[in-house]
Amino acid sequence: MRKPFVAGNWKMNTDSHSSVALAASVVSGTEEIEGGEVDVAVCPPFVYLQAVSKALSSSRVALGAQDIYFEQKGAFTGEISSAMLKDAGCTYAICGHSERRHVIGEGDELINKKVTAAILGGILPILCVGELIEERKADKTAEVVTRQLKKGLANLSEAKLSAVTIAYEPVWAIGTGLTATPQQAQEVHALIRKLLSDMYSRALAEEIRIQYGGSVKPDNAEEIMAQKDVDGLLVGGASLKADDFVAIIKGAIS
Ligand code: PEP
Repeated sequence: MRKPFVAGNWKMNTDSHSSVALAASVVSGTEEIEGGEVDVAVCPPFVYLQAVSKALSSSRVALGAQDIYFEQKGAFTGEISSAMLKDAGCTYAICGHSERRHVIGEGDELINKKVTAAILGGILPILCVGELIEERKADKTAEVVTRQLKKGLANLSEAKLSAVTIAYEPVWAIGTGLTATPQQAQEVHALIRKLLSDMYSRALAEEIRIQYGGSVKPDNAEEIMAQKDVDGLLVGGASLKADDFVAIIKGAIS
């Protein structure tokens, strides 16, 4: 049985005060939920990681980063390594978010290096995959997701794969208010699990958590989570309001 995993991606939002206040509200809103029921993480901007880490200390809410770099240290201006993320208190790092793929221009090879470096550095990667609207309309969803998954996980052993969470995030549903129907989400999640089974083993594929992301809100979380292969949610906009994020977490386990 896979434990649900709900993560909030704050993107380039909050400031030094509101990031800590938001983290504190998520902590208090989730206090009554049993730790064994769901894993919860928040992913603030890099500059607020340490402050948010303090606000989360001795809570069951984990800290994640929105990105990671694959080198350990040196002349890589502006980049952040796995060791730095660990030092700041991170458990997770998002790799290959669609905004990094399509706005910043990251490709599958770079994302694979990030996933690999995260695992080697003791950070659990959340590998995002998902198709653009033109790709869905051209019936290329399976092709795109298959390529992103295979290239994103290239050269990872079975032992390393168990550190990975996959997030299926159709790009057309991110920040648009459009959500994949539960059936559309289930179809792609089932494809991802089948691919993992073919690439590794059925047993391992059954263990890996696959989150859905794309305009998740309190009123659609439960229905999406009810799908057989949807094991969690990656939440953008709605994670910036503690009440909504907590309602989504509760919806995910009801
Ligand atoms: C995201 O940024 O990963 C995301 C899913 O955003 P939103 O929930 O705002 O669509």
